[in-house]
Amino acid sequence: MASSLEVALGEARDRFVAANPRSRAAHEEAVENLPGGNSRTTVFYPPFPLTMAGGTGCRLTDVDGHVYVDLLGDYTAGLYGHDNRVIRSAVDEALDAGWGFGAQCVHEARLATVLCERFPALDLVRFTNSGTEANLLALATATAHTGRGTILVFAGAYHGSVLYFGEPAIPINVPHRFVVGEYNDAGVTGELIDRHAADLAAILVEPMIGSGGCIPGDPAFLAFLRRRADETGALLVFDEVMTSRMSRGGMQALLGITPDLMTLGKYTGGGMTFGAFGGRADVMSMYDPRRPDFVPHAGTFNNNVLSMAAGYAGLTRLFPPETSRRLFERGERLRARLNEIGRDHDAAVQWTGLGSMMTVHFQPEPIVAPRDLRPTPVHRELFHLDLLDRGFHLARRGMVALSLDIGTPECDAFCSAFDGFLSRYGPLLSTPEPADASRTPV
Ligand code: PLP
Repeated sequence: MASSLEVALGEARDRFVAANPRSRAAHEEAVENLPGGNSRTTVFYPPFPLTMAGGTGCRLTDVDGHVYVDLLGDYTAGLYGHDNRVIRSAVDEALDAGWGFGAQCVHEARLATVLCERFPALDLVRFTNSGTEANLLALATATAHTGRGTILVFAGAYHGSVLYFGEPAIPINVPHRFVVGEYNDAGVTGELIDRHAADLAAILVEPMIGSGGCIPGDPAFLAFLRRRADETGALLVFDEVMTSRMSRGGMQALLGITPDLMTLGKYTGGGMTFGAFGGRADVMSMYDPRRPDFVPHAGTFNNNVLSMAAGYAGLTRLFPPETSRRLFERGERLRARLNEIGRDHDAAVQWTGLGSMMTVHFQPEPIVAPRDLRPTPVHRELFHLDLLDRGFHLARRGMVALSLDIGTPECDAFCSAFDGFLSRYGPLLSTPEPADASRTPV
């Protein structure tokens, strides 16, 4: 017999299907030529994902005409919202001058200057087309620079489509010699470092595990990685593709820990296709073609005018240090309120994260590392469908990334919606997941 949890989920699914006939039709068309109907697994969820028709500010409208407050902010890439005027005019101006020159454009050195001014790690920077590519290049740079082949990563981390270290393991990761440490566990990680010290090229780490559940790095653990990298001669690489928004100088500035290399992506290109890797001049200068022993690194769209112009406009005109501080504080306040609401309902729920990024978890036990996460796909699906029903768009996995357009009214409304969800389903959150629940894609 179906449990109350399964009944509740079945009803929520039925409501979703009934309310979204056009999204359903769009999905049925998409599956004809795209595996599962998409080219980005994260945007898929059963029974079918919503198809968006457009967006303005922090709101999205789907093809059935429903309007949502967008709390996902394109997984942190959408910091500036969906139609920001400053970004729009920077892109328009760039396009007015033409594109695809096969040559330097005026925008790229400007963007590089702003990035190097902001992020302590960056003496020199190079652009790519995505965060995945930035991490691939950072790792290749580290192996070339050190002449070593082993890379330490952390269980539960996501560094791109071919650099995923969650469960289950995927067969499409790039074939580096990876060793997988435990996040925030200096004991286990220290032993691994000792064992592989002679061949360790890089330690690749997110200062906060983002996609893997918004789990902040313990500052002492990250300082330990800095120390061990120095002792072993490995390069410390901070993946700040998501976390660079945490302050003017990213998480590294908040922590006071400067990595040897870092990667960027997401909002840093103003919402256009973007990635960047960079760091110490003595390492990055290997790409300087004026040197006789330089290493070539090409990429047709690395300096595309849209990303260069939008990225520069965003950082200089929309995201000055004061704005990054206010955004961080808004997120801290929101997460605290959500956790308070959870406590008021005595529900098995908590929000983890830092600043403007947070994820809901349906478990009362503390979460220090990805290994502490309990798989709760049914609870997550119920939450997601219920919040969509209440007019809030967020990730199926329960992730929120605030954009600059999310203000007090949206935060207040979201807190009320979360309170409504817990009033309706709070007691069900203590119900165990059905035995086969882990097969539900999340
Ligand atoms: N690194 C982190 C921490 C990410 O969260 C992501 C994407 O979610 C990436 C790298 C990959 O970036 P992209 O999707 O632009 O390839």
